[in-house]
Amino acid sequence: MNKSGTVLPAVMAYDRINAGLRIVLEQFRRGGANHAYLLTGAMGLGKRTFAKVLACALFCMSEDKPCGVCEACRRVMACNEPDVLEVYPEGGKQIPVNTVREVIGTVSQHAFGSGYRVVIIEPVEKMNAAGQNALLKSLEEPLSNVVFLLLTHEFSATLGTIASRCVRVKMTPWPDELMKQALMDEGYAEADIRRILPLSGGNMGTALSLISGGDDDEETKSFVHAALSLHSDASAVAVSTRLKDAREKSDQLLDALERAIHQTLLWKTGMVDANALNAFPESWQRIGEKITLKSLNTMLEAIFEARRLRLGQVNWQSTVDQLMIKLLEEQSVWQQS
Ligand SMILES: [Zn+2]
Repeated sequence: MNKSGTVLPAVMAYDRINAGLRIVLEQFRRGGANHAYLLTGAMGLGKRTFAKVLACALFCMSEDKPCGVCEACRRVMACNEPDVLEVYPEGGKQIPVNTVREVIGTVSQHAFGSGYRVVIIEPVEKMNAAGQNALLKSLEEPLSNVVFLLLTHEFSATLGTIASRCVRVKMTPWPDELMKQALMDEGYAEADIRRILPLSGGNMGTALSLISGGDDDEETKSFVHAALSLHSDASAVAVSTRLKDAREKSDQLLDALERAIHQTLLWKTGMVDANALNAFPESWQRIGEKITLKSLNTMLEAIFEARRLRLGQVNWQSTVDQLMIKLLEEQSVWQQS
């Protein structure tokens, strides 16, 4: 994900971002971790990395934990630590209940190393009801020396019963100064950092993606291009079909579209370079001249709503159709004016 391939130098700054993170990290350093934590915050704020930092703090063999360089820290960061189990959905699918049961079964047995076992599940909302119930049981009757780190991008989607059994850790946007320092430590040029910082909104994931030229592939770029050039029902249907067919990649496509609209919003408010819209279709650049902030916000809200509906298992086809109709409506207003 980042340039040097080592994440720790940058993320060590985490505990300077907010006091809540500092307190939690301190619990892990002292070996006094609770049995379950729920890490919340938007995608890209560093939940997964912070979870790894916490695990490192638990296993680190140095005085100053987590050092990031000892064998234990390296194993955790490289996903080679057998006592750290990580559960992610395959593709964009759900996390099957069997996977959850398997992991809980594994951690119920003896640990391989120091005695601690850590389970990282991301995102918890990708577990179906059966999976969440299986997890709930282990949260109600905590296993000794097992720490659950549950990550969620959408707090509201998390079962309240699970949340109530976890210590909640809220990831907050990085202050610009800290993000700048972290990116400089990673070896990025100051001019590049200055260019992308106002677009990143304190989100390290966004910053890294933007600074590396955006990790958007051709398919993503072409999708954004098409979604910002809607001019008829037929074009909306075509873009909607692309999003439907890309189901497993739809998060990436929606993120890229959201970034483009957000960038336009920043451009309108004069917060970014005058050339910031040059990468977008000409029709969108013309719209950009006239469109109101309210209209851009309506478009952003439509994207948030689509994400929310998908988490709620609402029919994906009708969700993306609605989204594109909304985007078409907004664009039409400014194309005609
Ligand atoms: Zn270490």
